Amino acid sequence: MTDTAISTGTTESVDEFAARARAWLAENMPRIDPGDPPFAVRAEGASWERAKELQKQLHRGGFAGICFPREYGGLGLDPAYQKAFDKECRDYEMPLILNTPSFTICAATLLDEGSEEQKRDRISAAIRGEEVLCQLLSEPNGGSDLAGVITRADRRDGTWIINGAKTWSTSAFAADYGLMLARTDWTVPKHEGLTMFLVPLDSPGITMRRIKEVNGNEEFCEEFFDGLELGDDAVVGEVNGGWAVASRQLFHERRAVGGGSEFGSGNGAENAQEMPPDHVGLAEATGQADDPRIQDLAGRALARRIVKEQLIEHVSRAVTDGSLPPTGGTLIRLFHAEITELEVDTALAIAGTAGVIDDGAGLLDISVRYLSRQTGSLGGGTSEMARNVIGERILGFPREFAADRGVPFNQVKRGKS
Ligand SMILES: Cc1cc2nc3c(=O)[nH]c(=O)nc-3n(C[C@H](O)[C@H](O)[C@H](O)COP(=O)(O)OP(=O)(O)OC[C@H]3O[C@@H](n4cnc5c(N)ncnc54)[C@H](O)[C@@H]3O)c2cc1C
Repeated sequence: MTDTAISTGTTESVDEFAARARAWLAENMPRIDPGDPPFAVRAEGASWERAKELQKQLHRGGFAGICFPREYGGLGLDPAYQKAFDKECRDYEMPLILNTPSFTICAATLLDEGSEEQKRDRISAAIRGEEVLCQLLSEPNGGSDLAGVITRADRRDGTWIINGAKTWSTSAFAADYGLMLARTDWTVPKHEGLTMFLVPLDSPGITMRRIKEVNGNEEFCEEFFDGLELGDDAVVGEVNGGWAVASRQLFHERRAVGGGSEFGSGNGAENAQEMPPDHVGLAEATGQADDPRIQDLAGRALARRIVKEQLIEHVSRAVTDGSLPPTGGTLIRLFHAEITELEVDTALAIAGTAGVIDDGAGLLDISVRYLSRQTGSLGGGTSEMARNVIGERILGFPREFAADRGVPFNQVKRGKS
């Protein structure tokens, strides 16, 4: 391993950076078969330890946090450098499970909204491969109405006391800190009484449990807060200004989910089960490559995959130059969800009954993946909510009726009240 502290200045061109990355990767990172990459099981602690080791290696080599500012441990480079690096790292094992939500959503949000101390300490620890971040937003009573959270943070003797529950927290069991939205003022309309906290997950007062999914995974967690105590240094942004922070978090999530974030640690060689299915290979493996119906199915999926790639480019550029509002990332997010379902459905249609039989050919993975085909339509807000955002914030349609708009939260009717 070459342990060099490379000083990366903006004088290095993207091509020079890519060439240097190519040479360093070849010498320092584990090479993989990109057609059959290792699978990091997100529900297993060992996968996270492995990812942190890989991230440490990137950091030692001077290729970690490419688009994060230098003062918080990154390289402070333009997204073009990250893109070039992503291309170079395709044949190497990368700490991909650290990307979402830790880097692309949580660290990116802290960068926008966190205090100087939070940015300096938490972002740099993540870039060094020492810490993982997660998000604690959804609650058992519903996630779409995020501004309606009822986990409470009450001020007592100079500290914040948290009581409530969160759920569906992706990989929280492996995380060190979570961005948690709580209600700090019940006397104002729902969006105005929220505060975002950065919660150390090993604090007393937190009980965490794993959730078992239909496909057998246990990556999601639920957390119960019983008198958790936090100081003012845990507040992200302003007290009662949590909605602005949450909005920024959702902005980063929409971009990240669709693959449009520049804050990941490589995104080339993905976990096989998370990669778009290889429809052509599947058609060949099942002896149907010459069947016009199968060619038509595979062609439809492939065409949309190409459109998605161009959509990411187009929307990212439009949001950056201001021709689309920041919510424009929702377009990527929605298209990503729809194409994921189409890709998985197409794979199962091609595999047919062979996709549900464990005959050692590996086709059973297709039906197991089918069980979670809709996660992309839920995570980061549902597709229905994405359509609402596109209608109201991008196309300028009238806002949906809301009985609680402008009403102090403690006067809003909830449940049977
Ligand atoms: C892969 C994945 C990862 C996730 N990771 C996290 C995480 O890390 N942290 C976290 O906090 N949460 C996470 N979630 C939870 C996710 O944010 C919620 O599932 C999502 O916001 C929807 O909330 P809900 O499941 O409570 O559904 P509900 O809000 O109860 O909605 C139920 C149904 O009603 C529809 N609906 C609700 N309101 C409207 C409306 N106004 N207009 C039209 N339709 C509406 C919804 O679209 C949905 O179909 C994750 C979920 C998934 C699947």
